[in-house]
Amino acid sequence: MRVDPTASPSSPAPARLILLGTAGGPRPNRYRASPAQVLLIDGEAHVIDCGYGVARQLVLAGVPLTALRCVYLTHHHSDHNADFGTLVWLAWASGLRAPVTVFGPPPLAEMRELFLRLHAYDIAVRTADEGRVPFAPLFQVREVAAPGVVLETARLRVTIERVHHPPVEPALAYRFDTPERAVVISGDTTYCPALVALARDADLLVHEAMYVPALERLVGRVGNARRQLEHLLASHTPAADAGRVAAEAGARTLVLSHLVPCDDPTLSDTMWLEEAQRHYDGQVVIGRDLLAL
Ligand SMILES: [Zn+2]
Ligand SMILES: [Zn+2]
Repeated sequence: MRVDPTASPSSPAPARLILLGTAGGPRPNRYRASPAQVLLIDGEAHVIDCGYGVARQLVLAGVPLTALRCVYLTHHHSDHNADFGTLVWLAWASGLRAPVTVFGPPPLAEMRELFLRLHAYDIAVRTADEGRVPFAPLFQVREVAAPGVVLETARLRVTIERVHHPPVEPALAYRFDTPERAVVISGDTTYCPALVALARDADLLVHEAMYVPALERLVGRVGNARRQLEHLLASHTPAADAGRVAAEAGARTLVLSHLVPCDDPTLSDTMWLEEAQRHYDGQVVIGRDLLAL
């Protein structure tokens, strides 16, 4: 269900989604940045997931860090949370004055405390030396884990659902309803019926995807190959199943992101597309960094 458009007093620009990073996994590579996306609503930035380098990706996307209002973490794998504190901290160093709320699973509150301790020196010295507002009150967190609505304003409703990404528990998907469009971010998950329900009639479904035939080649390049392959198959979604989720949900556009492998130059967009379209005849977009939707 969309937020009631009559609730808005004027006619602001429709919400826009920018893919900031479309790689899956924690290893840096030269093709794609770490998982992150930003939803821009009335000039405010809502960032979903914070792989390393997310602040730089926002700058490259032309989004001022001072526009940051909320951050949403799907789960606590480092490709999704590495820079959540760093993002707010660098926004503060760039002139942020309004509080930012980070939503995500426990132990988010403890992680915030540890971040403040880790960077206490820089925070203290910049506050005193550069006359900045105190940082800690701007860096707020809200632990979420149970399915349901976690934020509701006149222009935005945010709903979470639990998805299946063993052994990480909980792993969350997010739905963002604005007056003009509904956007769903899968987070990391296997094929998941709860996600189908969350993504019902969504305009954009950003779903993680792996290209299964290329996985053997991928794990052959890193250590621990067998365990790696077992993890991928037990915790992630083949592109064809991402298409199946989009079809069952009735989503209008499927965006493949969190691509695994993300650094195999022999994989073309056409190959991803053919997999995603096995069970889905809607529009499919193969994600790339800084693509605006
Ligand atoms: Zn991931
Ligand atoms: Zn993960």
